[in-house]
Parts: sequence; C-alpha cells; structure tokens
Amino acid sequence: MTVNLLGLGSRQLEGFCAEMGEKPYRARQLLRWIHHAGVDDFEMMTDVSKALRERLKECATIAAPKVLRDTAAADGTRKWLLDVGTGNAIEAVFIPETSRGTLCISSQAGCALACPFCSTGRQGFNRNLAVEEIIGQLWYANRCLGRGPVTERPISNVVMMGMGEPLANFDNVVAAIELMLDDSAYGLSRRRVTLSTSGLVPAIDRLREACPVALAVSLHAPDDKLRDQLVPINRKYPIKDLLAACLRYIEKAPRDFVTFEYVMLAGVNDSVMQARQLARLLKPVPCKINLIPFNPFPNSGYTCSDPETIGRFRDVLMQAGYITTVRKTRGEDIAAACGQLAGQVQDKTRRRQRRAHDSSVSAVPLTEAAQ
Ligand code: SAH
Ligand code: SF4
Repeated sequence: MTVNLLGLGSRQLEGFCAEMGEKPYRARQLLRWIHHAGVDDFEMMTDVSKALRERLKECATIAAPKVLRDTAAADGTRKWLLDVGTGNAIEAVFIPETSRGTLCISSQAGCALACPFCSTGRQGFNRNLAVEEIIGQLWYANRCLGRGPVTERPISNVVMMGMGEPLANFDNVVAAIELMLDDSAYGLSRRRVTLSTSGLVPAIDRLREACPVALAVSLHAPDDKLRDQLVPINRKYPIKDLLAACLRYIEKAPRDFVTFEYVMLAGVNDSVMQARQLARLLKPVPCKINLIPFNPFPNSGYTCSDPETIGRFRDVLMQAGYITTVRKTRGEDIAAACGQLAGQVQDKTRRRQRRAHDSSVSAVPLTEAAQ
C-alpha cells in the first residue's frame, strides 16, 4: 500500500521514517521538500540518498486532490475546483490584496449544519476531508501561484471559510493547521490562520487547548429566535453559551478579539433595531464585526440587503464603538464568493445523476459535469 505523505505531520513522518529504518532528521527533510519547496517528485529531493529515494518511490506518494477546473476572475481572484472522489467537488479560492494574499479553503464536502442561506448547507453533508485533502489545497495553490523562489510565496493568510464546518472535522482540521504553522512546512503565524465556525461550543474549547488560531464566528442574528432559524446549530448551542466560549477562547488565542460574521439578508436581520440589539449583545466580548453581503444562489429564498441598509447597520455598530467592516464581494464573475462554492457543479452533478438514474444508464462522472 502506498502512503500519501502530503497528509503526514512532522511526528507521523518521523514514525514513517522510523519504520523505514531512517533517522528522525529525515522527517524534517521530507517536510521541507514536500511543503516548503512544493515538490511531488522524490527524484528532486537532492539531499536524500538515491537508495532512499528509490524506496520512497515504491511505497509513498505526494498527491493533492485532482484539479477539475482552474478559473481566474477579472479582479485577480483565482478559484480551483478539486475532485475529492465519488462525485464530490470542493473549492479553494485565492484572493489577492495589496498587502496580503488570502487562500480560502474547504474542510468538508458539503455540510450537515443546514444554514438555509448557505448553498453548501443546502447540498447536505457528504464527508469529512482527509488531512491531505485539506492541506492539499494550500500545497496546490502555492505551487500554482508561487513561480520563483519560495520567499515570494503569495499566500500570506489562510481562512477556513470554504465549504463545510471545520470544527465538525476537528482532528483532520487541527492536523492540517499544525502543518500550516510548522516552520518546515508553511510557517504561517497563528494570527494569519483563521478558522470560521457556526458555533460548535465544545469544539471551540477543544481548539483553544489543541491549537488556538484566529477565530471567526458566524453569528448572523442578534437573538436566539432568529438565530435558531438562520444557524440551526444554535438550538443546541444558544448565543449565551457561544459568547461565553468566545470569551474563554480569547484568553488563549493569538488575537485578543473574535471576529463576528453577520450575513446581510434583506428584511430578515438587517434593521436598525437589530443593529442596536447586536451592539448590546456583544458588549462583553472584545470583537470586530464583519458584515457579509449575502451572495445569492438559485432558489435561496433570500436577497441581499441594499447598500444603504448595510451602511446604516454598519453606522449603528460603529457609533456603538465596534470596528465594523463590510466584506467586499470578490470573484463574483466566477462564482467564488462565500456560499457559492462548488454549488453549481454539485447541483449539476446531482441533476445529471438523477437523469442518468431515471433512464437506467450509469451516472455521469463529475469531471464531465464540471466542464
Ligand atoms: N461553516 C463555517 C465556515 C464556512 S462558511 C461557518 O459557517 O462559519 C464561511 C462564511 O460564509 C460563514 O460566515 C457563512 O455563514 C457565510 N456564508 C454562507 N453562505 C453565504 C452566502 N450565501 N452569502 C454570504 N455569506 C455566506
Ligand atoms: Fe455549514 Fe457554515 Fe454553510 Fe452553515 S454556513 S451550512 S455551518 S458551511
């Protein structure tokens, strides 16, 4: 059986090397070649002996998910559609800005938490991504964007805001984050890796102990009644418990604040009264607020608040003393904005699979559906 080395952290690579009768320092060499240099060919590992390279070729591989589509938007946003098997596709999106380059990555194929305004939530849950599939998005994007010396890496920040709920795939997500932070791999600082969660309270506590990074929390409503609808996991972990977990998290976090995300849904959560309610609610928690204009998708049943309403909402929060930003929508022409990820492909695949099933012929593979 071949081992995919892309998903192994430093300790596991040490174990792998020990099994092969190799010294522990080999693990660090492998880590550097794979993640720092972005190499997938053992022949290129010039400081590894020829004999070991031959053995590695026999028992190991370095493989990221296959790219089905690579699209560039007019504003420089780049989107990769990646095949994770059995008709599932995920997406990674690179967003260049003047002072940083952010890669948005996925943690699950689909999502079980069923927030009604989210196209991933509407697709349902398919499966957790493996470590190599999560880190593979960063590995691949770095290779794709980073022509030239490693020091010119364009990805300075990673946000786990793609498909899926990262804290519902806890172990694999933490293992992938550890690789992001490892100096021999990507060497990102904890402040530059952000995990976005819909609010799995016990897992927020676990993350604080295991691997604290910057935290974004999808709040989206100023009271439990509305949040129960918009973020159904709120019925299990209501706002009071969530805010208490945020306070506990900040004690150990690399940043001394939490970012609250708030999607702007016309006539649902965007009134001045709701802005005031939100300002009162968040008083005890050091935080910033990020308002996200809703990205529409077919049959969502929601529309985005108009710019004036978003402006008024922001002004109320700013006057109450909150640093409040309105997220710029990026990559709209390639459907790379939040909540649009891979939805179209999944929908198309499902439709075609249904059609294929109805007429008793085999399902159309995703690769074709994605063309
Ligand atoms: N599951 C995690 C992370 C992925 S979603 C979470 O919910 O936080 C990343 C962000 O995009 C979340 O704040 C989510 O609520 C938001 N989002 C989802 N669908 C959206 C849409 N259609 N328009 C705007 N934001 C959306
Ligand atoms: Fe899942 Fe996040 Fe979408 Fe909710 S918003 S369904 S938690 S991916």
